[in-house]
Amino acid sequence: MIDLSRLAAMQIRDGIADHLFTAREVAEAALGRIGALDAQVHAFNQVTAELAYAAAGRIDDAVASDVVLPPLAGVPVGIKDNMNLVGTRTTCSSRILENYESAYNCTAVSRLLDAGAIPVGKCNMDEFAFGSSTENSAFGPTRNPWDLERVPGGSSGGSAAAVSAGMAAITLGSDTGGSIRQPGSLTGTVALKPTYGRVSRYGCVAFASSLDQIGPFAKTVEECALALNAISGKDPMDATSVNRPTEDFTAGLVDGVAGLRVGIVTDLLEAEGCDGVVQASVRAAAETFAALGAEVGEVELPSTAHGLSAYYIIGPAEASSNLARFDGIRYGHRVSGADDVLDLYMRSRAEGFGPETIRRVMLGTYALSAGYYDAYYGQAQKARTLIKRDFEAAFERYDVLLTPTSPTVAFKIGEKSSDPLAMYLSDIYTIPVNLAGNCAVSVPSGSCPASGLPIGLQIIGTHFDEATVLRAAAAFEEAVGFDTTPPLVREVR
Ligand code: GLN
Repeated sequence: MIDLSRLAAMQIRDGIADHLFTAREVAEAALGRIGALDAQVHAFNQVTAELAYAAAGRIDDAVASDVVLPPLAGVPVGIKDNMNLVGTRTTCSSRILENYESAYNCTAVSRLLDAGAIPVGKCNMDEFAFGSSTENSAFGPTRNPWDLERVPGGSSGGSAAAVSAGMAAITLGSDTGGSIRQPGSLTGTVALKPTYGRVSRYGCVAFASSLDQIGPFAKTVEECALALNAISGKDPMDATSVNRPTEDFTAGLVDGVAGLRVGIVTDLLEAEGCDGVVQASVRAAAETFAALGAEVGEVELPSTAHGLSAYYIIGPAEASSNLARFDGIRYGHRVSGADDVLDLYMRSRAEGFGPETIRRVMLGTYALSAGYYDAYYGQAQKARTLIKRDFEAAFERYDVLLTPTSPTVAFKIGEKSSDPLAMYLSDIYTIPVNLAGNCAVSVPSGSCPASGLPIGLQIIGTHFDEATVLRAAAAFEEAVGFDTTPPLVREVR
């Protein structure tokens, strides 16, 4: 059987093209791995064997007729369960959408499929992407393949765990305040949040429309670059997607970082609550960049101290508005025997939404209410502007910035679930990037000596400079040589 935890997307495609194995065999390997491990990990809400075999069959037919294979031919992919894929339910891990059948394909998903990818399933997540641990799923938590007692991060925890466990080579997540990068960090995977506007969100259930961005997880920087090639670009169905010339994000990956100006963000690194091992890992990363020929210096982003507060006004405000559509009439769960339409709305939503979703809707509705709008929402938008200016000033001096991705390694299931504020603090390093709209990647920087759990480095770039971020990440990845395969997965091989 093919070992997917060792085969990168490029090798899968080339192996199929060179007749070393068939796309069907790749699909079997991915589904076999899911069968062996997913009862423990629960990365998937739905496994799509039929869709996978149908897509694999099309690739094998193309091989038989000597057609040149597309770049992701035969590559098993998982899709976060807030993105529509025809033939699947799109549940957002919520009871209210438990039986919602995708009516059309999300643009990013159809672009992956057009590039030849094989969809193996829909990945678990925090309900409506509210969370940092995937414990807020209505269908039960995802577990971290590195330690099944720990969370994989969130909200795209299923997508992160699926890649980490070798169940898919590439998965898609969405990142509103860190939900791609933070689970990437906690599972030792490479996780990219593209610049706001780089990837269409059409067909991805909206959380906070001024922040949401779709991006990939994979085991290597090169695979993330390949995925970005496939999914990026203008889409007439999403007015926020930006029309820029197509780029090959794999092109500069081997160019190294000599002369690259790398800024280590010292005030964020020294923030309270950041573990010593994480701080040490980022400092070591800065030394690695210096050894590779980069010009490393220090920078501060003082306004990012207000990032979390601003985000927890803006995010819930937009979410409360976006979630108004789930009313029991147009979509999803509907109670029976309602007295009138208001009763139907109220009871359908109360039954369909979980506690964190209800908290967000209440927070957001309050922040937008007459009399409080200026004091909360208005202030938060001003803080957002200041944060954006801090980044602009930093990028005048540096090409990329370094911070931890997450202040801690993966925490225990249940450890933070009764304390929303402790959970929110998981995203102090990722959230400012969403507020400013920049791109950033999390790349494994090593592991905690005591626990063996992965640590992630966040590399932030200026708007639409994914190429530089990925180039820096690729050089760093090579220098670190992190083994992305968790012990659990080594055992099933
Ligand atoms: N953890 C953050 C939140 O709960 C970010 C979530 C996300 O990026 N979707 O809002």
